[in-house]
Amino acid sequence: MSGPASGVWAILVAAGRGERFGLDQPKAFAKLGDDPLLAEPLRRLDESDWIDRIVIVAPPEWEEPSILLAEELACSKVHSCVTGGATRSDSVRAGLAEVAADALVVLVHDAARPLVSDDVIGRVLAPLSEGWDGAVPGLRVSDTLKRVGDDGAVLDTVARDGLYAVQTPQAFLADVLRRAADGGEATDCAGLVEAAGGRVKGVEGDPRLLKVTTADDLAKIAEWL
Ligand code: C5P
Repeated sequence: MSGPASGVWAILVAAGRGERFGLDQPKAFAKLGDDPLLAEPLRRLDESDWIDRIVIVAPPEWEEPSILLAEELACSKVHSCVTGGATRSDSVRAGLAEVAADALVVLVHDAARPLVSDDVIGRVLAPLSEGWDGAVPGLRVSDTLKRVGDDGAVLDTVARDGLYAVQTPQAFLADVLRRAADGGEATDCAGLVEAAGGRVKGVEGDPRLLKVTTADDLAKIAEWL
């Protein structure tokens, strides 16, 4: 295995129900090209020289199709596939329980962001050897931000200085993430680590790490494949 870090475990969280998608199957199994969405990030993580082992967190009752998919793709790094929880944080905890005690680094990635690249994995891993507890990729917000009420009325304008839209993969020292994820809820792992007092660095993200939320997002990503 090449790359400066050893013992890098990836948790691929794929257990979201994808209610905004309107399918009767989970979002991770919506079609991206000819394959389920899950295939693309799984293959990319498996092929990455930075990653040693992978834990898949699957939607309830989709563990077996997830394992079969990993076998079809001839993935060599998949350690296990576990059932996700009710929230993203619960799913991360389920994945963390599978990570070896001697893992140095845990990288958590949303299956809903299929186009993960070696470049961005390298960028989030680098700060961990410079004294940071974690690193997250993000894109500087360029639009003007406004808070809008339920009735559609604009309430105020939010200063956008220093604001980033944060993506995954997010990388953490394994012990730091384990402690931070021991309870608590956040929409990303960095939120858990920040709440526990950890130092997280923001690095350059990638517009191609768009999160699949609607069928239109899938069509856009299919064009980028
Ligand atoms: O719901 P959200 O869009 O934030 O989901 C981001 C990622 O977290 C997706 O890949 C989704 O499958 C995953 N997730 C999960 N378990 C949940 C909710 C979301 O694994 N309960």
